Amino acid sequence: MAEKSKKKSSLKNAAKKPAEKMKRGLFRNLVALLIVLLAVLAYLVYIKYFRETPQPIALPDGSMQVHFIDVGQGDTTLLCVADEESDRPFTVLIDAGLGDGKAADYLKKLEITVIDYLVFTHYDADHIGGGCEVLALTEVKNILAPAHEPSNQTQTKLKQAMEDEGAVLLTPKQGATYAVGDMQMNVLSDDTIVANGSNDDSIILLCRFGETTFLFSGDAEKKREQMTVDAWQSLAGVDMLDADVFQAGHHGAANASNDFFLAKVTPSIVVISCGVGNKYGHPREEALARFALYTDKIYRTDTMGTVIITSDGKDETLKVETEKPQEETRAYLLPYAWFGVAKPHFTRLKAG
Ligand SMILES: [Zn+2]
Repeated sequence: MAEKSKKKSSLKNAAKKPAEKMKRGLFRNLVALLIVLLAVLAYLVYIKYFRETPQPIALPDGSMQVHFIDVGQGDTTLLCVADEESDRPFTVLIDAGLGDGKAADYLKKLEITVIDYLVFTHYDADHIGGGCEVLALTEVKNILAPAHEPSNQTQTKLKQAMEDEGAVLLTPKQGATYAVGDMQMNVLSDDTIVANGSNDDSIILLCRFGETTFLFSGDAEKKREQMTVDAWQSLAGVDMLDADVFQAGHHGAANASNDFFLAKVTPSIVVISCGVGNKYGHPREEALARFALYTDKIYRTDTMGTVIITSDGKDETLKVETEKPQEETRAYLLPYAWFGVAKPHFTRLKAG
């Protein structure tokens, strides 16, 4: 009897085994499938967000492009002017961001190897940090920067790299004009040193291409803005500060882009270079409110990534492209909003 039941149970076990085996096999296959799916997903994310493939800049004849490069909480702006007689455009790089390779990586991606004018608006780390990397990567022909004696390691290294480059070293002379192909770059600020190389020593530049104008004021605050407005006030009938596109002063800080300054600039488009969740709260609501008096075309590198504006020299045809569509940036910023790190501000995305 005992033997019979043993036989029965072993028969039962034998029937169970293939079913269990099948279950285990199915489980293994599911795990393998999941791993493959995760690997594919990781690859797609890598391609979309992390892989840097060279995309040589393609400028239509007779045009200029201004790239407000997303380098986090810092400034780097690349201006490219088409040159029909050469296979490379004329180039100006205003500031070089932090020393984390982002400015150099962007130039590498666009296969920019020569910079006609490298401008350092002032000597704070979020503007000169990537300077040595840019100088090491490219051939720089002219460097425009305020006169300054280095007071920290970053500045000392940059000074050495600037001297080693063999470029023409220029200091800002108010009213100086440099021709960069068909673009004219005017220095509007003077060379008075008021802030030991920091914000209020920023160079203020107006770049004119055909009928379009772009104004860059670095991190200039009230004092430098006032000095510049006063200097050009006397020229009756010519508003030198008037610009179509204005890069918000000091990353959209409250103490820059003051009312009296904006009244001269009267921008149609404002671009704010700042980093996601930056500790300064840039751009500040006060500055955004002041910009809103002139335009609703406000673009931000923290929410939109790199902003590219193309001009064919005609005022009404400025084309604005942003790296990220607004839908993506909303989801991207949510964690910051949840933790109260940043105060997300969503501007409407409109073509220039
Ligand atoms: Zn700055």
